[in-house]
This record gives sequence, C-alpha cells and structure tokens, in this order.
Amino acid sequence: MREPPVASLTHETAAQWAGQLLSRYSLRLEGIKWIPGYGGSAAVSDDGVILTLGEQVLQDAATMRFHIAHEVGHVVLGHATGLRRRRLRLTVISVAVTLVLEGGVMAAAVLWSWPIVLVPVVLLAAMGALSRCAVLPLERAADEFAAAHGAPASSASIPPTPWLNRWVLKTHPTQQERSRPIAPMLSSHPM
Ligand SMILES: [Zn+2]
Repeated sequence: MREPPVASLTHETAAQWAGQLLSRYSLRLEGIKWIPGYGGSAAVSDDGVILTLGEQVLQDAATMRFHIAHEVGHVVLGHATGLRRRRLRLTVISVAVTLVLEGGVMAAAVLWSWPIVLVPVVLLAAMGALSRCAVLPLERAADEFAAAHGAPASSASIPPTPWLNRWVLKTHPTQQERSRPIAPMLSSHPM
C-alpha cells in the first residue's frame, strides 16, 4: 500500500508537516537540515526542534511522514536529549567493556592458548547486547509514536539495515520488522 511518488513534496511540505505535528505538543520547529540519503535525527535547542533529514525521505508522502514522525517521537518521548546521553553512556560503557574484555580474553588466549579469533567475537557480542538494551527500545518507541500519528513504518520506504546493524549491533528494528504493522500504543491523534 505504498503511495505513488508525489512530485510536489518539497522541503516546505516537510517543514509544514513537522511543524504541525510538533505544535500538538507545544513544540516549535526551528528548522530542518537536509542531508543526502535517508534517515534523520532530532535535536532540541532553546528555540525549538531542529530535525536533520535525508533528501530521500521526500520520495513519497508516507515515507516523509514516517521519518518526520519518528524523529518527532524521539523529541516528544524525551529521547532527543536522552538519546545523546544514552549514546554517550553507551560509548563510555562500550570502551570500558572493550578494554576489560579485550584484556581478559587476550590474557585467557595467551594463558590457555585460546584461538585469538574469539577476541573480536566476544567483543561484538557484548556491544550487541548493550545496543539492544540501550538503543533498540527507544527506536521501537519512536516507531510506535509514528504509527499512533498515522505514519506507520510499514507504509514507508526504509533502506535495508546494514548487515552489521541487523545482526550484531542491532540499534534499529530491521526493515522486515518495521514492515509489519504494529499496534499503536500511545493515545492516537489521527491526522
Ligand atoms: Zn530513531
């Protein structure tokens, strides 16, 4: 049920839609920064919300709405600042875990002649577990917010998840997971 491409989708259309969605939560759009490709992010400043969006999200209305609503969801649900903090914390934890594990596994490899190939395997598994706990739930919540605002991931074009993200680091739901309709869990404000 993909909508046909809308030639008239412009930066202004996107800004208008984002502004309307934000205004329901008494938030103001400060601006959208456009970058090549897909995806997006959101930041909160004193003057409002700054979205960064990939030009590709303008390919059709459903895709544009999903990506904007997903990022607005991060802001409304308090992730936009929290996400940065969590990512920073995740980085700090990852580095600490990396150092401890690497030291431990290397020592074990030397002491008991383990194959050295176990070192990166153990490290990646630990980092994958961390991103599943710290980042993935926020991404699912932002998808649920988007679905509750009439912009489900299942109707949008989402680029395939890179292999490393799909199987190892797992920060976002996969394209396949997102193409399944999810039951909106937030109070709905149909557009
Ligand atoms: Zn997200």
